[in-house]
Amino acid sequence: MCSQDIPRGVTALPSPDRRRFLSSAGIVGGAATIAALTGCTTDVGTGEDRMSPDSAIIQHTYTGLSERSESLTLRQLVETTDAAAPDNRLRGTHRMLWDIGTRQPYVALSFDDGPDPRWTPQILDALRAAGAKATFFMMGHNVDRHRDLARRVRDEGHDIGNHTWTHQDLAFQDPASARNEIMDGKRAIKEVLGIDTTYFRPPRGELSGAVMRILAEEDYDTFLWSVSRNVPGVGTPELVADHVLERLRPGAIIDMHDSIGRGNFLPRGDRTRKLLTASRDVDAAAVPAILQRGMAAGLQFVTMTQLLEAAEDPGAITPSTPATENLPHGPTTQVPREVAS
Ligand SMILES: [Zn+2]
Repeated sequence: MCSQDIPRGVTALPSPDRRRFLSSAGIVGGAATIAALTGCTTDVGTGEDRMSPDSAIIQHTYTGLSERSESLTLRQLVETTDAAAPDNRLRGTHRMLWDIGTRQPYVALSFDDGPDPRWTPQILDALRAAGAKATFFMMGHNVDRHRDLARRVRDEGHDIGNHTWTHQDLAFQDPASARNEIMDGKRAIKEVLGIDTTYFRPPRGELSGAVMRILAEEDYDTFLWSVSRNVPGVGTPELVADHVLERLRPGAIIDMHDSIGRGNFLPRGDRTRKLLTASRDVDAAAVPAILQRGMAAGLQFVTMTQLLEAAEDPGAITPSTPATENLPHGPTTQVPREVAS
């Protein structure tokens, strides 16, 4: 279904029809719209090297196109959607965020893949010592295995999001399997922590159009990131802290890890596991310096909820990125091209 026909058809339509099509298909968005239309895989996770400054938030709204409409031509789809208007109910809206525009000196640290006894307590201690909050995108499988640790994260006031059940790359899953990964993660967090998650981070930042639709139906916002460790190899805590701090701007979302995700499940992954473990050791050791030096520069480390509350226009497709006095400013997406970790 990854033919170029549909995107070309969309751009070839006269603008009233194009607007009608986009609105009838229920899709409002930018860079990821083509993937949403075609079901093609899109790698949207690497905010640092892929997104332009005006793409920090993309909002998609999905209405109830029937499954059969996916096999129709574009022209048939436009005509059919009008005829089927009574069934065209709203399926859901979700936002995709790399960072936000805000006048507050807020940044959001986030940790993926945990909870994990090796790293999560160390990171929680550092956050507590600094009086800082963060967001943990947990794997359902780890929540189920480390229940007390998951409860500690919740009880210390951090936000909790869903990072699937076993860290499958959703871009390579059929829609039914992807839905299971998302829903099993959601259920584990609900069962152990009593939290109905509405924040989602896809493993490796990879999504398909089908997954974006599932997320909209399940009332999830997708949080990607504008800053990550991006240090080659294992690195050192100093290098990781320097890299992150050089790129921090108000509104930034920082992606770090408190476990090793898919590395937990690789059948013959000893070498990978060792490298990832060493890398996570370095990242966890960098957290105190990131917190201390960031706070010394005037930044506050907040949860995703607090970051969203401070957004100039949290539903905007094009958020503003205003200057903040005495702080580094500008869009966090304007950074050198690098390979994401
Ligand atoms: Zn992950």
